[in-house]
Amino acid sequence: MSVSGCIFCRIIRGEVPAMKVFEDDHTLVFMDIAGDADGHMLAVPKAHVKNVLDCDVRTLHRLMDTVQRVSRHLTENCGYDGINLLNASDESAGQSVPHFHIHIIPRKANDGVDAWPALPGAADPLEETYARLRIPGASK
Ligand code: AMP
Ligand code: ZN
Repeated sequence: MSVSGCIFCRIIRGEVPAMKVFEDDHTLVFMDIAGDADGHMLAVPKAHVKNVLDCDVRTLHRLMDTVQRVSRHLTENCGYDGINLLNASDESAGQSVPHFHIHIIPRKANDGVDAWPALPGAADPLEETYARLRIPGASK
């Protein structure tokens, strides 16, 4: 996906309208148009990176600072109790727009929103999976 054709880059450049919630030099938060949950918004870096896998640490840090800032605004000023943060990195994980974005879904107690995917159940024993996935020498 080229930067010129990327829908989120086009929003960042002002070529496509968006309902902006927060913006600074490096990040933007705007309302998601899906209409699937009240308050669903997207936080994006202004730099075009695809997802968490290719994102440099400075961009990642700035994005997460903005995610925390907007999340605190939602809970401190807008009547929400909590937040779900969702991200799909790569098409295999369900990413449909190839510009890094964190979904922010504000939550209220007993709001009935089911923001946690129904997972299929583990196929392999936990200990086997752990042995395959742990990073040798990286835990104390
Ligand atoms: P994902 O499937 O995790 O890549 O999420 C992409 C999200 O982008 C979806 O929730 C879409 O509703 C949202 N989206 C796509 N185009 C726009 C747009 N022009 N403005 C706001 N949200 C958008
Ligand atoms: Zn982009």
